[in-house]
Order: sequence, then C-alpha cells, then structure tokens
Amino acid sequence: NRQMTLASRPVGAPGADNFAMKVGAVPEIIDGEVLLRTVYLSLDPYMRGRMSDAESYAEPVAIGEPMVGGTINRVVSSKHPGYSEGDWVLSYTVGWQDYGVSDGSMLFKLDPEMAPVSHALGVLGMPGFTAYMGLLDIGKPKSGETLVVAAATGPVGSTVAQIGKIKGCRVVAIAGGEEKRRRLEALGVDVALDHSAGDFAEQLAAACPDGIDVYYENVGGHVFDAVLPLLNTGARVPVCGLIAHYNDTALPDGPDRLSLLMSTILVKRMTVRGFIIFDDYGDRYPEFAGQMARWVAEGRIDYLEQVIDGLENAPDGLRGLLEGENFGKLVVRVGED
Ligand code: NDP
Repeated sequence: NRQMTLASRPVGAPGADNFAMKVGAVPEIIDGEVLLRTVYLSLDPYMRGRMSDAESYAEPVAIGEPMVGGTINRVVSSKHPGYSEGDWVLSYTVGWQDYGVSDGSMLFKLDPEMAPVSHALGVLGMPGFTAYMGLLDIGKPKSGETLVVAAATGPVGSTVAQIGKIKGCRVVAIAGGEEKRRRLEALGVDVALDHSAGDFAEQLAAACPDGIDVYYENVGGHVFDAVLPLLNTGARVPVCGLIAHYNDTALPDGPDRLSLLMSTILVKRMTVRGFIIFDDYGDRYPEFAGQMARWVAEGRIDYLEQVIDGLENAPDGLRGLLEGENFGKLVVRVGED
C-alpha cells in the first residue's frame, strides 16, 4: 500500500519536498469494515489549507500522515452488510493512498450506469454542490442580472456560470489564458475574459455596462480588484474561495484597501457571505443531487475533467492547480478500474 504523506508544511507554493511516499502492507479488515482500493483521487484547492497548521475550519493533516481527499474506490472485500466486493464508492476517509479501510462512514455507493464514476468528485459531487448552494442561496441570481465568476473552467466556476445561464443571467466568465477563454465561449456564456490580459480591468468594465449584481468569489487577487468598483447597490458576493492567496506568505503590498472595501459594502449595501459547503448546507445535498443529475442528463450542464496518471504525480498536480495549470476538474488515476 503506497501512501503519499505530508512530510513538512509548505511556506508559499507546495513542493515535492513537502511530501513523502511511504510503502506498507495492505490493511486487514474486521467485522463491520470494507477494504477499499483507490481508482481516482480528487485534487482540490482546499488541500493547500490542510497542509498548513494555521487556524481554519478543519484540522490540518498531521506530519507523516497521508494527505486527505475525496476518492473513488472499488470494494476489494467486505465484512459490512451494506457493501459487496466490486461496488463503486465515493470515500472521504481514504485520501492519498492505494488502499483504505472504512466502517461505512463518509462512504457513498455509486451507480456506474448513471454517470462516469469520477464525476462524483466534480459536477455531481462536492464542487458542483458548492457552485449550486453558493450561487442560489447566497447569490440569489435573478433573470436579467449580471453574474461574474472567475476560475470559470474549473468544476466550481464552470458550474456557477452554467447555472447562471439557466437562471437567465447575463454571465461574464473569467479564466486564465486564451485556450480557457475559448472553452468559456463554448459553454455559452455572454462574455468570456482572460484575466491575464494587460487591460483586463477595462475589458471587465466594458463587459458589464449595467454593473455587477452577483460576483461569485472564487479567486480574490487582481480579479477582485477589477470587480469591486463595478458592484451594484444590493450586490451579492458569495465568498467561496480566494485561491489567488492560498500560497501567500505575507500581506500584499499597499496601499491598504480595507477601508475602500468596507465603505463599498456600506454604501452599496452589499451582502458578502462566506460559506463552507458541507458545514453550512450538508442537509440540502439531496436537493442538489437530484437537480444536478437532471441538468447534466438534459445536457444543460457540461463538464470537463483532466486526468493525470499515478499517485506519485499528485503533489505536482496540486502545485499546478494552485497556479492555474489545470484545465477542468483535476483528478489523479491512482489504480485500474
Ligand atoms: P479550479 O479547478 O477552478 O482550480 C483553481 C483555478 O483557480 C485555477 O485553474 C486557476 O484558473 C484559478 N486561479 C489560480 N490562481 C489565480 C489567480 N491568482 N487569479 C485568478 N484565478 C486564479 O478549482 P475548484 O473549482 O475546485 O475551486 C474553485 C474555488 O472554490 C477555490 O477557491 C476553492 O478553494 C473554492 N471552494 C470552496 C468551497 C467551500 O466550501 N467554500 C468548496 C470547494 C471549492 P485560471 O487559469 O482560469 O485562472
């Protein structure tokens, strides 16, 4: 059993030396347990937070322990009445390793006839749920309003953009680079922008002649700087993630814009609300799962996945994800079907 463990806590971007592969025996199971073999491992931005011991909403991974993460597994053997050999499952307790033991908690059976099993790590799972609740419950988009979202080729942002279209919004979607920008056009958004353009702020202003009613915040950084002056009175800002800052080691250079931010919130009477998806909305998962499965089946939500091969390549995949190298939902193929 190979385990990719946390060897040290990164300062700045995570590197190969922050991880160590350990090899041990395949674990044994007792009554009430199942032995799981990992087929796909999800790579997600929150993993950067788990590598750090700064105070957060979840416990950090301990040094020497396998990294945490969502996985798609096959049941190898079962002494649990609910699972049989060969079942496909989604697990949140195995993490970055070949094999894991589960007592059935945080374990969900998948039907491979319904959708490719890996989609349970993306549009049909946690990232899709994040897009759905953050946009609909906090963003409250209305037909005809302008919705702006960045990281819009990723699993959260692309789902936000497409739900925005379903709800009748004018959708301005943002991504890094021309290839990603073209992908956004193919998704049918109203305007697709590349945030690496030198005149990005001017392009965004031109794309939002009536201002911005909903800004779904995935990134922070220079994208937020361009968004802030365009927000309308009564704008809603679901704060989902701030990926531009996850590798920061210090506060950004001045001038200090905190008072500008706070006075904009005041004068524009904006709703700015953070959320942690399962903590805040866990009880609404069935509503999401039913609705999203229908939208995907009807072809109204499209989904892009990038698969990299081998558990040994997961650390570099995570580094790249934080720097925008991924194109679509990033998953690692750890083992054979
Ligand atoms: P993505 O696959 O979209 O990957 C991250 C993307 O962020 C990169 O591909 C890159 O896209 C973009 N990015 C990175 N740095 C910058 C930057 N400096 N400026 C602008 N864009 C940048 O990830 P997910 O869809 O999985 O997650 C999106 C966000 O949602 C993250 O912030 C994540 O932490 C958050 N999240 C929050 C949850 C919650 O419960 N609150 C749950 C799940 C996710 P590009 O090349 O297009 O710039």
